Amino acid sequence: MPELDLSELLRPEVRELRSYVPVAGDYRVRLDANEAPPLLSAAARRALAEATTDVAWERYPDATMTALRAALAARMGVDPNELLVGVGSDEVITLLLTVLAHPKARAPTATVVSTTPTFVMYRMSALARGMRVVEVPLDDAWDISVESMQKAIELAQPNLIFIASPNNPTGTMMSIDRVERVIEAATGSLVVIDEAYVDYASRDQLALYRAHPNVAILRTLSKVGFAALRIGWLLARPELIAELDKARQPYNMNTLSQRLGTIALRDLGDEIGRITRTVVDERKRVASALAELPTVKVDPSEANFLWLAVGPPASEVFRDLASRGVLVRSFHARGGRLAHRLRVTIGTRDENDAFLSALGDVLGP
Ligand SMILES: *Cc1c(COP(=O)(O)O)cnc(C)c1O
Repeated sequence: MPELDLSELLRPEVRELRSYVPVAGDYRVRLDANEAPPLLSAAARRALAEATTDVAWERYPDATMTALRAALAARMGVDPNELLVGVGSDEVITLLLTVLAHPKARAPTATVVSTTPTFVMYRMSALARGMRVVEVPLDDAWDISVESMQKAIELAQPNLIFIASPNNPTGTMMSIDRVERVIEAATGSLVVIDEAYVDYASRDQLALYRAHPNVAILRTLSKVGFAALRIGWLLARPELIAELDKARQPYNMNTLSQRLGTIALRDLGDEIGRITRTVVDERKRVASALAELPTVKVDPSEANFLWLAVGPPASEVFRDLASRGVLVRSFHARGGRLAHRLRVTIGTRDENDAFLSALGDVLGP
Protein backbone atom coordinates (compact mmCIF):
# COMPACT_ATOMS: atom_id res chain seq x y z
CA MET A 1 0.00 0.00 0.00
CA PRO A 2 1.34 3.46 -0.83
CA GLU A 3 2.31 5.71 2.08
CA LEU A 4 0.03 8.64 2.77
CA ASP A 5 1.87 11.73 1.54
CA LEU A 6 1.22 14.19 4.36
CA SER A 7 2.96 17.01 2.54
CA GLU A 8 0.13 16.99 0.00
CA LEU A 9 -2.36 17.63 2.78
CA LEU A 10 -0.47 19.66 5.36
CA ARG A 11 -0.59 23.38 5.67
CA PRO A 12 3.08 24.34 5.11
CA GLU A 13 2.97 26.68 8.12
CA VAL A 14 2.12 23.76 10.40
CA ARG A 15 5.10 21.79 9.15
CA GLU A 16 7.28 24.69 10.35
CA LEU A 17 5.74 24.80 13.83
CA ARG A 18 6.89 22.87 16.87
CA SER A 19 4.54 21.51 19.53
CA TYR A 20 4.43 23.43 22.77
CA VAL A 21 6.00 20.97 25.21
CA PRO A 22 6.60 22.07 28.81
CA VAL A 23 9.84 20.78 30.30
CA ALA A 24 9.18 17.35 31.82
CA GLY A 25 10.92 15.77 34.80
CA ASP A 26 11.01 16.03 38.55
CA TYR A 27 12.21 19.33 39.88
CA ARG A 28 12.26 20.24 43.55
CA VAL A 29 11.25 23.81 42.69
CA ARG A 30 9.20 24.50 39.57
CA LEU A 31 9.09 28.21 38.76
CA ASP A 32 8.72 27.96 35.00
CA ALA A 33 5.01 28.25 34.19
CA ASN A 34 3.68 31.29 36.08
CA GLU A 35 1.30 29.18 38.11
CA ALA A 36 0.21 30.47 41.53
CA PRO A 37 1.85 28.87 44.57
CA PRO A 38 -0.16 26.11 46.31
CA LEU A 39 -1.63 28.28 49.08
CA LEU A 40 -5.31 27.34 48.93
CA SER A 41 -6.70 26.75 52.44
CA ALA A 42 -7.91 23.34 53.62
CA ALA A 43 -11.46 24.75 53.85
CA ALA A 44 -11.36 25.88 50.22
CA ARG A 45 -10.04 22.51 49.10
CA ARG A 46 -12.87 20.83 51.00
CA ALA A 47 -15.50 23.10 49.43
CA LEU A 48 -14.16 22.26 45.97
CA ALA A 49 -14.11 18.51 46.69
CA GLU A 50 -17.64 18.52 48.11
CA ALA A 51 -18.97 20.23 44.99
CA THR A 52 -18.09 17.16 42.94
CA THR A 53 -20.09 14.64 44.98
CA ASP A 54 -23.39 14.92 43.11
CA VAL A 55 -22.24 15.45 39.52
CA ALA A 56 -24.52 13.95 36.86
CA TRP A 57 -21.70 12.02 35.20
CA GLU A 58 -23.91 10.66 32.40
CA ARG A 59 -25.05 14.11 31.26
CA TYR A 60 -23.37 16.56 28.92
CA PRO A 61 -22.21 19.81 30.54
CA ASP A 62 -24.34 22.98 30.44
CA ALA A 63 -23.58 24.21 26.92
CA THR A 64 -24.34 27.83 27.81
CA MET A 65 -22.30 27.78 31.07
CA THR A 66 -25.04 29.80 32.74
CA ALA A 67 -23.77 29.63 36.32
CA LEU A 68 -20.12 30.13 35.43
CA ARG A 69 -20.85 33.11 33.20
CA ALA A 70 -23.11 34.63 35.86
CA ALA A 71 -20.33 34.29 38.44
CA LEU A 72 -17.83 35.88 36.06
CA ALA A 73 -20.21 38.69 35.17
CA ALA A 74 -20.88 39.42 38.84
CA ARG A 75 -17.18 39.45 39.65
CA MET A 76 -16.38 41.82 36.78
CA GLY A 77 -19.48 43.98 36.96
CA VAL A 78 -20.46 43.25 33.36
CA ASP A 79 -23.36 41.59 31.56
CA PRO A 80 -23.12 37.82 30.88
CA ASN A 81 -23.72 38.46 27.17
CA GLU A 82 -20.42 40.35 27.05
CA LEU A 83 -18.58 37.15 28.01
CA LEU A 84 -17.26 34.19 26.04
CA VAL A 85 -15.70 31.40 28.11
CA GLY A 86 -13.10 29.03 26.70
CA VAL A 87 -10.86 26.17 27.77
CA GLY A 88 -8.21 28.62 28.92
CA SER A 89 -7.49 31.88 27.14
CA ASP A 90 -5.73 29.63 24.65
CA GLU A 91 -9.08 28.44 23.30
CA VAL A 92 -10.49 31.96 23.26
CA ILE A 93 -7.47 33.05 21.19
CA THR A 94 -8.12 30.25 18.68
CA LEU A 95 -11.80 31.25 18.43
CA LEU A 96 -10.86 34.86 17.72
CA LEU A 97 -8.40 33.73 15.04
CA THR A 98 -10.94 31.35 13.52
CA VAL A 99 -13.77 33.83 13.30
CA LEU A 100 -12.07 37.16 12.57
CA ALA A 101 -10.14 35.67 9.66
CA HIS A 102 -11.54 37.46 6.63
CA PRO A 103 -8.59 38.99 4.73
CA LYS A 104 -8.69 42.79 4.49
CA ALA A 105 -9.05 44.36 1.04
CA ARG A 106 -5.33 44.68 0.26
CA ALA A 107 -4.13 41.56 2.07
CA PRO A 108 -3.85 38.04 0.61
CA THR A 109 -4.44 36.49 4.03
CA ALA A 110 -5.80 37.64 7.38
CA THR A 111 -3.09 39.20 9.54
CA VAL A 112 -2.28 39.41 13.22
CA VAL A 113 -0.09 42.11 14.75
CA SER A 114 1.53 41.57 18.11
CA THR A 115 4.61 42.60 20.03
CA THR A 116 7.84 40.74 20.69
CA PRO A 117 8.73 39.29 23.08
CA THR A 118 5.25 38.26 24.17
CA PHE A 119 3.02 35.25 24.84
CA VAL A 120 3.76 32.65 22.13
CA MET A 121 0.22 31.39 21.61
CA TYR A 122 -0.89 34.39 19.53
CA ARG A 123 1.75 33.56 16.96
CA MET A 124 1.48 29.77 17.08
CA SER A 125 -2.29 29.69 16.81
CA ALA A 126 -2.33 32.28 14.02
CA LEU A 127 0.31 30.42 12.00
CA ALA A 128 -1.52 27.13 12.48
CA ARG A 129 -4.51 28.80 10.82
CA GLY A 130 -2.49 30.09 7.88
CA MET A 131 -2.60 33.69 9.04
CA ARG A 132 0.23 36.16 8.66
CA VAL A 133 1.89 37.35 11.87
CA VAL A 134 3.71 40.66 12.25
CA GLU A 135 5.60 41.06 15.50
CA VAL A 136 6.69 44.53 16.55
CA PRO A 137 9.64 44.72 18.98
CA LEU A 138 8.97 46.32 22.35
CA ASP A 139 11.20 49.28 23.21
CA ASP A 140 14.20 49.21 25.57
CA ALA A 141 11.93 49.40 28.62
CA TRP A 142 9.80 46.53 27.19
CA ASP A 143 6.97 49.00 26.58
CA ILE A 144 5.02 49.49 23.34
CA SER A 145 6.84 51.31 20.59
CA VAL A 146 3.97 53.41 19.27
CA GLU A 147 5.48 54.56 15.98
CA SER A 148 6.49 51.01 15.01
CA MET A 149 3.06 49.71 15.93
CA GLN A 150 1.36 52.46 13.92
CA LYS A 151 3.54 51.64 10.91
CA ALA A 152 2.81 47.91 11.24
CA ILE A 153 -0.92 48.59 11.45
CA GLU A 154 -0.84 50.82 8.40
CA LEU A 155 1.15 48.33 6.32
CA ALA A 156 -0.32 45.04 7.53
CA GLN A 157 -3.98 46.06 7.93
CA PRO A 158 -4.38 43.49 10.70
CA ASN A 159 -7.62 41.76 11.62
CA LEU A 160 -6.43 41.34 15.18
CA ILE A 161 -3.89 42.97 17.46
CA PHE A 162 -2.80 41.20 20.65
CA ILE A 163 -1.29 43.23 23.48
CA ALA A 164 -0.48 41.41 26.71
CA SER A 165 -0.42 43.90 29.57
CA PRO A 166 1.14 43.04 31.96
CA ASN A 167 3.21 41.31 29.33
CA ASN A 168 4.63 37.80 29.45
CA PRO A 169 7.64 37.27 29.68
CA THR A 170 8.66 40.83 30.54
CA GLY A 171 6.19 41.57 33.37
CA THR A 172 5.68 45.10 32.06
CA MET A 173 2.40 46.95 32.18
CA MET A 174 2.17 48.82 28.87
CA SER A 175 1.78 52.59 29.17
CA ILE A 176 -1.90 53.32 28.97
CA ASP A 177 -1.48 56.30 26.63
CA ARG A 178 0.57 54.16 24.25
CA VAL A 179 -2.02 51.39 24.22
CA GLU A 180 -4.65 54.02 23.56
CA ARG A 181 -2.72 55.44 20.61
CA VAL A 182 -2.46 51.95 19.13
CA ILE A 183 -6.20 51.47 19.59
CA GLU A 184 -6.88 54.76 17.86
CA ALA A 185 -4.58 53.84 14.95
CA ALA A 186 -6.36 50.51 14.53
CA THR A 187 -10.03 51.38 14.19
CA GLY A 188 -10.42 48.61 11.57
CA SER A 189 -8.94 45.90 13.83
CA LEU A 190 -9.98 44.22 17.04
CA VAL A 191 -7.43 45.04 19.75
CA VAL A 192 -7.30 42.29 22.36
CA ILE A 193 -5.74 43.36 25.64
CA ASP A 194 -4.63 40.21 27.43
CA GLU A 195 -4.93 40.74 31.18
CA ALA A 196 -3.83 37.26 32.28
CA TYR A 197 -1.77 38.84 35.09
CA VAL A 198 -4.11 41.67 36.05
CA ASP A 199 -4.55 40.35 39.62
CA TYR A 200 -0.88 41.12 40.23
CA ALA A 201 -0.95 44.57 38.63
CA SER A 202 -1.56 48.05 39.98
CA ARG A 203 -4.46 48.69 37.61
CA ASP A 204 -6.64 47.14 34.89
CA GLN A 205 -7.54 48.36 31.40
CA LEU A 206 -11.31 48.06 31.49
CA ALA A 207 -11.67 51.80 30.84
CA LEU A 208 -10.13 51.24 27.39
CA TYR A 209 -12.77 48.58 26.70
CA ARG A 210 -15.53 50.97 27.76
CA ALA A 211 -14.15 53.84 25.69
CA HIS A 212 -13.30 52.03 22.43
CA PRO A 213 -15.61 49.74 20.44
CA ASN A 214 -12.60 47.93 18.87
CA VAL A 215 -11.21 46.70 22.21
CA ALA A 216 -11.75 43.35 23.95
CA ILE A 217 -10.24 42.08 27.20
CA LEU A 218 -8.89 38.58 27.75
CA ARG A 219 -8.64 37.04 31.22
CA THR A 220 -7.97 33.67 32.84
CA LEU A 221 -8.09 31.77 36.12
CA SER A 222 -4.80 30.06 35.26
CA LYS A 223 -2.47 32.51 37.00
CA VAL A 224 -4.39 32.92 40.26
CA GLY A 225 -4.46 29.35 41.51
CA PHE A 226 -6.77 27.47 39.13
CA ALA A 227 -4.66 26.49 36.12
CA ALA A 228 -6.01 22.95 36.52
CA LEU A 229 -9.53 24.05 35.57
CA ARG A 230 -8.60 25.62 32.18
CA ILE A 231 -10.96 28.60 32.33
CA GLY A 232 -10.32 31.73 30.29
CA TRP A 233 -12.73 34.34 28.98
CA LEU A 234 -13.17 37.27 26.68
CA LEU A 235 -14.99 40.48 27.58
CA ALA A 236 -16.29 42.02 24.36
CA ARG A 237 -19.33 43.65 22.78
CA PRO A 238 -22.33 41.23 22.66
CA GLU A 239 -22.39 41.35 18.82
CA LEU A 240 -18.86 39.93 18.67
CA ILE A 241 -19.48 37.42 21.47
CA ALA A 242 -22.49 36.08 19.53
CA GLU A 243 -20.37 35.51 16.40
CA LEU A 244 -17.51 33.87 18.31
CA ASP A 245 -20.00 31.63 20.07
CA LYS A 246 -21.01 30.09 16.73
CA ALA A 247 -17.50 28.65 16.34
CA ARG A 248 -17.28 27.42 19.94
CA GLN A 249 -17.80 23.72 20.48
CA PRO A 250 -21.08 23.44 22.40
CA TYR A 251 -19.61 21.39 25.26
CA ASN A 252 -16.15 22.92 25.39
CA MET A 253 -16.20 23.46 29.16
CA ASN A 254 -16.60 20.25 31.13
CA THR A 255 -18.99 19.99 34.06
CA LEU A 256 -16.27 19.84 36.73
CA SER A 257 -14.55 22.99 35.50
CA GLN A 258 -17.87 24.81 35.29
CA ARG A 259 -18.81 23.88 38.85
CA LEU A 260 -15.44 24.42 40.44
CA GLY A 261 -14.81 27.60 38.49
CA THR A 262 -18.15 28.97 39.67
CA ILE A 263 -17.18 28.24 43.28
CA ALA A 264 -13.75 29.80 42.82
CA LEU A 265 -15.29 32.98 41.43
CA ARG A 266 -18.30 33.17 43.73
CA ASP A 267 -16.93 31.97 47.07
CA LEU A 268 -13.14 32.04 46.97
CA GLY A 269 -12.51 35.69 46.13
CA ASP A 270 -10.92 36.27 49.54
CA GLU A 271 -8.63 33.26 49.08
CA ILE A 272 -7.55 34.46 45.66
CA GLY A 273 -6.94 37.94 47.09
CA ARG A 274 -4.84 36.51 49.91
CA ILE A 275 -2.77 34.41 47.49
CA THR A 276 -2.17 37.22 45.01
CA ARG A 277 -1.19 39.65 47.80
CA THR A 278 1.25 37.09 49.18
CA VAL A 279 2.81 36.73 45.73
CA VAL A 280 3.08 40.50 45.27
CA ASP A 281 4.84 40.80 48.65
CA GLU A 282 7.20 37.99 47.75
CA ARG A 283 7.85 39.57 44.34
CA LYS A 284 9.13 42.66 46.12
CA ARG A 285 11.30 40.62 48.47
CA VAL A 286 12.79 38.44 45.69
CA ALA A 287 13.45 41.45 43.46
CA SER A 288 15.41 43.19 46.25
CA ALA A 289 17.40 40.03 46.97
CA LEU A 290 18.19 39.59 43.27
CA ALA A 291 19.39 43.16 43.00
CA GLU A 292 22.11 42.23 45.53
CA LEU A 293 23.51 39.47 43.30
CA PRO A 294 26.43 40.22 41.00
CA THR A 295 25.59 40.74 37.30
CA VAL A 296 21.83 40.42 37.85
CA LYS A 297 19.45 43.08 36.62
CA VAL A 298 15.73 42.85 37.44
CA ASP A 299 13.03 44.71 35.54
CA PRO A 300 9.98 46.13 37.31
CA SER A 301 7.19 43.54 37.23
CA GLU A 302 3.42 43.82 37.56
CA ALA A 303 2.95 40.06 37.19
CA ASN A 304 3.60 36.92 39.25
CA PHE A 305 7.09 36.49 37.84
CA LEU A 306 10.33 38.42 37.45
CA TRP A 307 12.21 39.10 34.23
CA LEU A 308 15.91 39.26 34.78
CA ALA A 309 19.16 39.64 32.92
CA VAL A 310 22.11 37.57 34.11
CA GLY A 311 25.79 38.08 33.25
CA PRO A 312 26.56 34.62 31.82
CA PRO A 313 24.52 33.25 28.90
CA ALA A 314 21.00 32.39 30.10
CA SER A 315 21.36 28.87 28.68
CA GLU A 316 24.18 28.15 31.16
CA VAL A 317 22.43 29.67 34.16
CA PHE A 318 19.25 27.81 33.26
CA ARG A 319 21.16 24.52 33.05
CA ASP A 320 23.02 25.08 36.33
CA LEU A 321 19.80 25.99 38.15
CA ALA A 322 18.07 22.90 36.73
CA SER A 323 20.92 20.69 37.93
CA ARG A 324 20.22 22.08 41.41
CA GLY A 325 16.55 21.13 41.07
CA VAL A 326 15.25 24.61 40.25
CA LEU A 327 13.36 25.02 36.98
CA VAL A 328 12.90 28.51 35.52
CA ARG A 329 12.27 29.69 31.94
CA SER A 330 15.09 30.73 29.67
CA PHE A 331 14.67 32.69 26.47
CA HIS A 332 18.20 32.19 25.15
CA ALA A 333 16.97 30.26 22.12
CA ARG A 334 15.51 33.50 20.75
CA GLY A 335 18.97 35.09 20.87
CA GLY A 336 19.58 38.82 20.52
CA ARG A 337 18.58 40.83 23.53
CA LEU A 338 17.00 37.74 25.11
CA ALA A 339 20.26 35.76 25.21
CA HIS A 340 20.85 36.62 28.88
CA ARG A 341 17.23 36.65 29.99
CA LEU A 342 15.44 34.40 32.46
CA ARG A 343 11.86 34.46 33.66
CA VAL A 344 11.20 33.15 37.14
CA THR A 345 7.74 32.63 38.61
CA ILE A 346 7.20 33.80 42.18
CA GLY A 347 6.46 30.75 44.31
CA THR A 348 6.09 30.11 48.02
CA ARG A 349 8.58 31.75 50.33
CA ASP A 350 10.53 28.49 50.59
CA GLU A 351 10.60 27.99 46.82
CA ASN A 352 11.78 31.55 46.29
CA ASP A 353 14.52 31.12 48.88
CA ALA A 354 15.61 27.88 47.19
CA PHE A 355 15.79 29.74 43.87
CA LEU A 356 17.73 32.66 45.35
CA SER A 357 20.20 30.39 47.04
CA ALA A 358 20.70 28.26 43.91
CA LEU A 359 21.18 31.36 41.75
CA GLY A 360 23.67 32.81 44.24
CA ASP A 361 25.51 29.52 44.03
CA VAL A 362 25.49 29.47 40.23
CA LEU A 363 26.65 33.07 39.81
CA GLY A 364 29.26 32.86 42.59
CA PRO A 365 30.48 35.72 44.75
C1 LIG B 1 -0.44 32.26 30.87
C2 LIG B 1 -1.02 33.24 29.92
C3 LIG B 1 -2.32 33.07 29.47
C4 LIG B 1 -3.17 31.97 30.02
O1 LIG B 1 -3.56 31.04 29.13
P1 LIG B 1 -4.64 29.99 29.63
O2 LIG B 1 -4.93 29.26 28.37
O3 LIG B 1 -5.81 30.75 30.15
O4 LIG B 1 -4.01 29.15 30.68
C5 LIG B 1 -2.85 34.01 28.62
N1 LIG B 1 -2.12 35.07 28.23
C6 LIG B 1 -0.88 35.27 28.66
C7 LIG B 1 -0.15 36.48 28.26
C8 LIG B 1 -0.29 34.35 29.52
O5 LIG B 1 0.97 34.54 29.93
